[in-house]
Amino acid sequence: MWQDLIRDEEARLAALHRLDVLDTAPEKPFERIVQLVRKMIGVPMATVTLVDRDRQWFKARLGLSYTETPRDDSICTHTISNLSPLVIPDLAEDPRFADLPCVNGPEPIQAYLGIPLVSSDRHALGALCAMDRTPREFTGEQIEILSEFALLVVDWLEMRRMAQTDFLTGAMARRTFLDQIEREIARCRSSGSPAVLAIFDIDHFKAINDTHGHPVGDRVLKGLVRICQDELRDWDVLARIGGEEFAILLPDTDGASGMQLVEKLCRTIGQTTIGDTGLNVTASFGISAYETGITSPDEWTARADGALYRAKKDGRNRCHIARL
Ligand code: GH3
Ligand code: MG
Ligand code: MG
Repeated sequence: MWQDLIRDEEARLAALHRLDVLDTAPEKPFERIVQLVRKMIGVPMATVTLVDRDRQWFKARLGLSYTETPRDDSICTHTISNLSPLVIPDLAEDPRFADLPCVNGPEPIQAYLGIPLVSSDRHALGALCAMDRTPREFTGEQIEILSEFALLVVDWLEMRRMAQTDFLTGAMARRTFLDQIEREIARCRSSGSPAVLAIFDIDHFKAINDTHGHPVGDRVLKGLVRICQDELRDWDVLARIGGEEFAILLPDTDGASGMQLVEKLCRTIGQTTIGDTGLNVTASFGISAYETGITSPDEWTARADGALYRAKKDGRNRCHIARL
């Protein structure tokens, strides 16, 4: 049973999920790496495999027609149980793998070389794999080359994550958020499901900086993000889109429920003393429910911004919904 092989599985999965990479579109660096692996190791198949709770999913793949397989059928699960390369010259000869569908199914893999992808906090997220359709040996030099590429894959995974995150608060960065709402618009259009966009801005934040200093202002921003993350649901997305301006995407949420959720968040922010600063702030919110007329992130954010402007004008510490 692979379950017996993995230590600290929950922490490992948390590290993997923090990277926000599962089910994302192909990206050039990973595509290039699997192409180089195929050329340099001389194999027909190469993958960047990430081992999720119940499946393994390929961030990049060459020579395989499927995008994921069940965890029970995963060779890489064995690779990540050891923080060292796994070399199997003939899978059919190995009782652990001989009966797996990937070994004796319609697209048989016969030889496997996998290097664990180890994060900077020492969790094995998956493996970089080179695979062949016939049994074969892998040389020490080939294992070394693949190991170097595996380090590169982890660097890219961690750098792409950093680029998507606001450095001060850990919320999503503006650019990534705009991409995300673009995808959400497409999803709403095709599935007909609702979604709500909220934008909020801290009230009189300049006064906090002026009175307590910029570093305290920074701590307030961080603390506020923490409060929001505690209040929001796992699938809601929080981004910092300006200095003291934030946005929230609420998927599968209609205008009325979005308003309820945001009004509650607005109250919670007003009532919570922020971390160790001893300070309280309020924020003003504008929300806009997705409608079919919305075709771009700019249009959607402009609507929420308009509502936010009215919330400020009407006295702050409140939430307005964009009018149709
Ligand atoms: P309003 O209620 O109208 O929004 O008033 P305000 O004072 O919040 O708005 P204003 O736009 O006048 O000031 C925003 C302030 O946010 C000014 C700026 O120095 C501060 N700010 C922006 N980014 C940061 C940051 O990263 N850290 C800190 N500490 N302050 C920041
Ligand atoms: Mg502002
Ligand atoms: Mg402000």
